[in-house]
Amino acid sequence: MEQLASIDAVRRYRKAVSGSLGFVPTMGALHEGHAVLIRRSTAENDATVVSIFVNPTQFGPGEDLHKYPRTLEADLELCAREGAAAVFTPNSAMMYPAGFTTWVNVDGLADKLCGRSRQNHFRGVCTVVAKLFNLVAPTRAYFGQKDAQQAIVLTRMARDLDMPLEVITCPTVRETDGLALSSRNRYLDPRNRQRARSIYKALQAAETGLAAGETDVATLKRACWAELDGNVDRVDYVEILAADDLGALEAVDKPALCAIAAFVGSTRLIDNVILAP
Ligand code: AMP
Repeated sequence: MEQLASIDAVRRYRKAVSGSLGFVPTMGALHEGHAVLIRRSTAENDATVVSIFVNPTQFGPGEDLHKYPRTLEADLELCAREGAAAVFTPNSAMMYPAGFTTWVNVDGLADKLCGRSRQNHFRGVCTVVAKLFNLVAPTRAYFGQKDAQQAIVLTRMARDLDMPLEVITCPTVRETDGLALSSRNRYLDPRNRQRARSIYKALQAAETGLAAGETDVATLKRACWAELDGNVDRVDYVEILAADDLGALEAVDKPALCAIAAFVGSTRLIDNVILAP
């Protein structure tokens, strides 16, 4: 496996590679959720590139940029084990040289859910992913349903900007008790790790309600809140929106994204399920 540590190196690698190229962008601190994306990419492409870059422009002031876990050695081992052909590890100075002023905004979709409380978050995500797409020029790029809004926003970006690649969204990988795997789970102490289970339980409450015939969005959201109450420290949002364009819904009469963001201690966790009528 090659480690590509500069823009020149990734461009040279891209020129030399033939056949289809899969791409898995990450911020490192890799776990089984990332491994599944890499495995899917290696199964569907002749070669796979993983990028590891903690992108500063998608973090807001006071967020966890500086304490975000950095575990490069273990990450490189995981990538090699899962069959990645190359890992791109740029730094901030390369990605954002002095004078950098160009941003990619996906209006509308990026203003909802996480975009409401994390101003400029998706501007940072879209800009860095657009740059990575330009450098890696993949045939297919793989993202996790865990970050559902990110996948929707990036799919729209690629379509709107005629990027010549396929964006593929892969199912969320969970712990046995349902907690979605996340690099941020390692911030949780044992007590908060237990309390964090309530997020997936809340999503399941909405699924159970729908299965019992309840389609009213306000009622289903109340069922989510009841599970979160007393278990999380602050709810950022509980939302049920149209799964395709994040439009408002009063009833689940078409596929809906049920999404939650909540703080357990000082750790902000997100998760979601698709509610299918
Ligand atoms: P991150 O390193 O957190 O930026 O995530 C990199 C990619 O891995 C994103 O496409 C995430 O959606 C995906 N990912 C993270 N956690 C999971 C998970 N538990 N299941 C599936 N995909 C995930």
